Amino acid sequence: MPAILPEKPDILKTLLKASLDSIIIVDEAGYIIEFSEAAEQLFGYNRADVLLRTLAETIIPPHLREAHHNGLAHYIETGEGPVLNRRVEVTAMHRSGAQFPIEITIIPTEMDGQRIFFAYLRDITERQAFERVIRRTSTRFEKLITSLQGGVLVEDETRHIVLVNQAFCNMFQIPVPARSLYASHSSTTAESSKHLFADPTGFIQRLDEILKSEEPVSEETLLLADGRVFSRDYVPVTHDVDHIGHLWHYRDITDSYRSQQRWRRMLRFEVVNKEINRMFLQFTGVDEALSRALAMTGGLLNVSRVYAFRFRENERILDNTHEWCAPGIAPEINNLQGLPFDEMLPSFFPLVAEQDYIAPHHITDLPEDLHGVLEAQDIETILWMPFYLNERIEGFIGYDEMRQPRDWLPEEITLARIIAENYARALERDLADRQLIQARDEAIRTAQLRAQFVANMSHEIRTPMTGIMGMLELLLETDTDAIQTEFAGEALKSSKRLLTIINDILDFSKLEAGQIVLESMPIDLRAITTEIRMTLMPQLKNKPVDILLNIAPGVPHRVHGDATRIRQVLMNLAGNAVKFTHKGNVTLAVHVTHTTDHTAHIGFDVTDTGIGISEENIQRIFDSFVQADGSTTRKYGGSGLGLSISRQLVELMGGTLSASIAPGIGSTYTFLLRLPIARAVSYLPNDHDRFADLTLLLID
Ligand code: ADP
Repeated sequence: MPAILPEKPDILKTLLKASLDSIIIVDEAGYIIEFSEAAEQLFGYNRADVLLRTLAETIIPPHLREAHHNGLAHYIETGEGPVLNRRVEVTAMHRSGAQFPIEITIIPTEMDGQRIFFAYLRDITERQAFERVIRRTSTRFEKLITSLQGGVLVEDETRHIVLVNQAFCNMFQIPVPARSLYASHSSTTAESSKHLFADPTGFIQRLDEILKSEEPVSEETLLLADGRVFSRDYVPVTHDVDHIGHLWHYRDITDSYRSQQRWRRMLRFEVVNKEINRMFLQFTGVDEALSRALAMTGGLLNVSRVYAFRFRENERILDNTHEWCAPGIAPEINNLQGLPFDEMLPSFFPLVAEQDYIAPHHITDLPEDLHGVLEAQDIETILWMPFYLNERIEGFIGYDEMRQPRDWLPEEITLARIIAENYARALERDLADRQLIQARDEAIRTAQLRAQFVANMSHEIRTPMTGIMGMLELLLETDTDAIQTEFAGEALKSSKRLLTIINDILDFSKLEAGQIVLESMPIDLRAITTEIRMTLMPQLKNKPVDILLNIAPGVPHRVHGDATRIRQVLMNLAGNAVKFTHKGNVTLAVHVTHTTDHTAHIGFDVTDTGIGISEENIQRIFDSFVQADGSTTRKYGGSGLGLSISRQLVELMGGTLSASIAPGIGSTYTFLLRLPIARAVSYLPNDHDRFADLTLLLID
């Protein structure tokens, strides 16, 4: 018989009515004696329907009924029940037969001497569904993180580990399964792993700094003591605006970091290579270029010392010629002069013959002689690159590493080779330059000596020549018969010709030896041309040739210049013109091309109607000792020096001498000089003005 619940107190009534949870009261036989409104809604029964029915008949699904029964019996017998006084999740059944999960708390109590049970029930269908979603999401998240290649650690706001993957443990060399770290404090992990980093204190400090700022960190590079490199990302985990945890992500980027470093290094090598090439080409001093190159590569290769050695006396003696030392490394250059190479390092040449350079990992890999010498200087390893001059080893560039053994990289060897080659080529160029300068100086000295000698000799010949000529002239003034007069006359003529040649040679030698010094004096150009005409007139006695002067209006009356040299050039040109003209005219023309207040550009033309000269000979005739053709000397005499001297004199005066010659019509020799106008300028009277009002009849 079910227990009859006595009259309910008010408070119970309110509870049964207002409680959001369903409340069912049953007696110890399992009969329902109270059924709250919420229970009516949850199970679809009216209170009246279920009262005095058992739980097993109503809300307990068939498969649980036996367990319920046993539980009840066990309780009655022992007073104990595993499901009492705590929340239990079970399956309940709706009136319609539909089953659903509920959370139930059963509290046994006594009322008026009867044992009854208060059951609080709550539908947890939704909650369970929600929990399932959460569980699935977090499982997925965990799976994702644990399967990541990088090490991931998620900690809560108190820094307790919430999630960590095996990759993290492996990277930080934590010898336990990842799961066993859950809930432990992550600072313990950090402390026990800090020794792995190149800067352990810095590692911890940086962690604290990041945690303090709670700013995301992306791809931060961490160097490990064993040479590995990690990259770190940090993401603060937030919920709404609160920080609820931290996510750390570490990746091992050793390979990519190294290749990036190498790539940067290669780039730097490339720049240094170019710079070294440029330096050796541009620097005038080879020594300076080498010193700079050594300093540049010393820094780049991060070695203790870089130096150059050079052999002398057929590779028997060795001198240290250049040296660069890293900070803190003592120079050795002064201790390494005049070394007896054969005795010290006999294995050098055989080694170089083998591989072209010497670059061991450690000096113990070298033959005894080299090893001994280097060990005495506390050197761990070396790179020695020989350089060659005229296919002989002239010396070598060396790199010392005093800290640890080292594997020399291909690009380091290439760089050493580039310096060695550049240095050798620069030495070659330097040598060639010096030889060239020496040869040039010698040639100049020889030419000067020769010119000096010729000048002296000509001078010595001229003195007796003038003596001979003076005597011949005196002889001709005495009573001589016709034959004697003819002979003495011929002798005098020959002497004069010889003197002209000697004078030419003297001038030529002086010009060659740079001994002609120009003078500056006021010159009257009209007087000079008139004088030349007068001098040459006697040579025209038997020829229908006239010498004409044409001084253009505007030619300054007086200019400053070397009268002797201008006269000499004009005389030379006019003399040639007279010599090579058999009929017609020789004209000496002077004109002005341009004047300023102080200077006049004056053109001189010597034109003739003589034999002219062929096109191909025009350039040659200005060379010394050259005549237009072989017959000239026979027919006209001369030394072939006149034009060469004239051109050099004109050039010395700042002008140029050129010829335009038409065979059969004649020749014109022209030169232009820039001469200062002498003060108290007066121009030659303008012929046109003078004759302006006159009528002239010219009969030739
Ligand atoms: P040279 O003392 O032999 O005249 P030059 O140097 O004065 O030496 O002249 C070189 C050569 O140039 C002459 O031998 C002659 O062949 C040629 N030459 C010079 N002036 C004239 C000219 N006005 N007409 C034709 N040929 C000339």
